[in-house]
Amino acid sequence: MGRHLVIVGGGHAHLTVLTRLRDFTGAGHRVTLVSPSPYHYYSGMGPGMLSGIYRPQEIRFHVGRMAQDRGAEFITALVSKIDPVRKILHLSDGSILEYDIASFNTGSDVSMDLPVSLSVEGVFSVKPVDRLYAFRRAVLEGRFEKKVRIVVVGGGPAGVEVSSNARMLLDGARISGSITLVGGRRVLGGFPPRVRQLAIKSLASKKVRILEGITAVSIRPQVVELSDGNTLPRDFVVVAVGVRPSTLYRDSGLPVGSDGGMLVNAYLQSVRFPELFGGGDCICLEGHRLARVGVYAVRQNRILHHNLMSALEGGDFLSFHPGGDYLLIMNMGEGKGIAWKKDIVWNGRLAFLLKDLVDRRFVRKFQVSGEKDEME
Ligand SMILES: Cc1cc2nc3c(=O)[nH]c(=O)nc-3n(C[C@H](O)[C@H](O)[C@H](O)COP(=O)(O)OP(=O)(O)OC[C@H]3O[C@@H](n4cnc5c(N)ncnc54)[C@H](O)[C@@H]3O)c2cc1C
Repeated sequence: MGRHLVIVGGGHAHLTVLTRLRDFTGAGHRVTLVSPSPYHYYSGMGPGMLSGIYRPQEIRFHVGRMAQDRGAEFITALVSKIDPVRKILHLSDGSILEYDIASFNTGSDVSMDLPVSLSVEGVFSVKPVDRLYAFRRAVLEGRFEKKVRIVVVGGGPAGVEVSSNARMLLDGARISGSITLVGGRRVLGGFPPRVRQLAIKSLASKKVRILEGITAVSIRPQVVELSDGNTLPRDFVVVAVGVRPSTLYRDSGLPVGSDGGMLVNAYLQSVRFPELFGGGDCICLEGHRLARVGVYAVRQNRILHHNLMSALEGGDFLSFHPGGDYLLIMNMGEGKGIAWKKDIVWNGRLAFLLKDLVDRRFVRKFQVSGEKDEME
């Protein structure tokens, strides 16, 4: 007899399930996708969207249409609470949804430890990724007396990519302006020293001012207050201070890992509630401490598709093995990148070309709902 599969969040780890939903509906199961937006943006190309290399419709998936075209129901909402005992999801629109099996790919949010609301004018976060497009538009549509002043808070890869690509945006639009990167203790502190060196050199060549040993402590309407007592005047702030899963799982009483992600076993299944599965940034894999990078979400696609089918139909589960070292490439603007895998580091045009190739190939595989023909 058909059962009800609820897919929560159409993120990177759910794309195979979503494009192959007919495997589930065709077997007589009812499927519902719950997502706050009909679109999901591919984060790796977000900085390139900021500078204008990519249009929004080139880097997003119409997950709502993807689901509906394959016989599923699409609900525009957030899941705000899980009742794993009664097998009920509470949605942000006040409704409830019963499930037999539910799979979560709700990602992560920028950890907002700063006393600032993202609704303050001119403040943007790097996630959700479409905020980078809102930032781009705000810069292009703004009227500035002299120079536009941009402050990027956070010295990880996202902060570095956003600083570089913000300069490309200004240069491309002939807007003069300053960009300051508030890098916390050290920009790219936990990364290979050569990556850090190359990134700092590249940022310096783009006249990005780097502050290290300093954190932002608050963001006010005109200024950013710093831990050393100074203030930075600002028109725009982009917050890139690292990500963590939402509190949904902890608040719902599920077993969670150290940063609040749903704790799952090797089958990507909740360690306490076998009807719950998950992938991407919103899970913590038992016995591992995985970086919050999209690489893992991508690697989990096949496992989730298989295991959700097995959970509905009965069958063996596949184990997820995180795999070895992975390649990361930062888009540094000007058609250049910095690439590294473990301690092997290289930079320049080839690095960006490789990133562009890999990213475009991934997007092409899952853009099955006419995304490229859409208007912005
Ligand atoms: C600027 C930037 C660049 C990056 N570049 C790279 C890179 O080049 N390579 C790399 O490996 N990693 C990169 N990352 C990291 C990468 O973004 C994350 O690891 C990746 O997004 C995780 O994918 P996900 O699908 O788990 O989460 P997300 O991409 O965050 O997707 C989660 C989805 O769930 C939906 N959702 C959220 N909450 C709910 C809810 N309560 N109910 C229902 N739906 C919900 C969201 O709308 C979203 O569609 C980058 C991150 C940033 C910020």
